[in-house]
Amino acid sequence: MKKYITFFLFLLFSLSIFANSSIKNIRLNNNPPQLVFDISGSIKPKFNTNYDEYNRLLFVEIEKVKMGTKLNSSKFIGKNIEKIDMIDYGSNIGFFIKLKKGSGHKVYSLSNPQRIVVDLRATNSSKKEFTIAIDAGHGGKDPGAIGFNKYKEKDIALSVAKKIQSRLSKDFNVVMTRSTDTFISLSQRSKIANQKKADLFVSLHLNASNNSSAQGMEIFYFSKKSSPYAEKIAAYENSFGEKYGEKTTSIAQIMGELAYNKNMEKSITIARPLNTSLSKRLGMRDRGIYGANFAVLRGFNGPGILVELGFITNKADVTKLSKDANQNVMADELAGKIRGFFY
Ligand SMILES: [Zn+2]
Repeated sequence: MKKYITFFLFLLFSLSIFANSSIKNIRLNNNPPQLVFDISGSIKPKFNTNYDEYNRLLFVEIEKVKMGTKLNSSKFIGKNIEKIDMIDYGSNIGFFIKLKKGSGHKVYSLSNPQRIVVDLRATNSSKKEFTIAIDAGHGGKDPGAIGFNKYKEKDIALSVAKKIQSRLSKDFNVVMTRSTDTFISLSQRSKIANQKKADLFVSLHLNASNNSSAQGMEIFYFSKKSSPYAEKIAAYENSFGEKYGEKTTSIAQIMGELAYNKNMEKSITIARPLNTSLSKRLGMRDRGIYGANFAVLRGFNGPGILVELGFITNKADVTKLSKDANQNVMADELAGKIRGFFY
């Protein structure tokens, strides 16, 4: 008889180990805001989690459980949760939780009773981590290049800059060197970005040429070495500083050699794919990327690029660049590549 009892206890013990636990209940606490999964059994539940910052999508997978309740997703939609979906993987159950802006996503497990808790309180980790400086070229008394149909470089540059700002500001701190039609000197632009500790500086311009057939898109980064062509463009953009009373040659080179090389490398990493994808999406000529001594990039303590969005003196280019729909495409592409550079 004793033998049978031992066997019976052994069986019970094995069952309690191997039987799947189940999610008994899913509930939402209000204060503090927490999503709680109550789990049966005595084994501490294991879970995996992943967070997609851009889409604010939290994935929580609870291992070795069955669903012992119905997921009534509408019950959870409110201040912190936008949407919740479930996938039953057979042995594991996964939840896709789309969070509202500002909600935290700290996931942990608790024992006695067994629970998985998603703390939705705003945490430091949901703070914006990176700062992007967007520099709309020229402005105010300095119109920049004036092109076909009297389009002004300063206006198109500002319009695209604002569109990039609105696309990035939900997940980046965005610093605008100007957001209105005002004059700002070249050295002041990098100073603004440095003061705000920007992680990337993006200057927007439109090219100009005496040859009205010159067209296409190109991106420049700061380099002490440069080609005669890039030198010419840099001299042209720098000349606006001199024209409006700034001695661009007197701007101190503040970057150390190590930082200089690192920043140049990072600038190239972002410039190359950006120029290819931008020109492709707008059906414009890809003129390539170049390093040159640009006054506006020189003073910034980090990676920076100067985008010549196209030729304002070319009819085809400026017709494209002046259209709102195309400016949206440009801003989408620029914001997308900037985001991809950091995440
Ligand atoms: Zn310019």
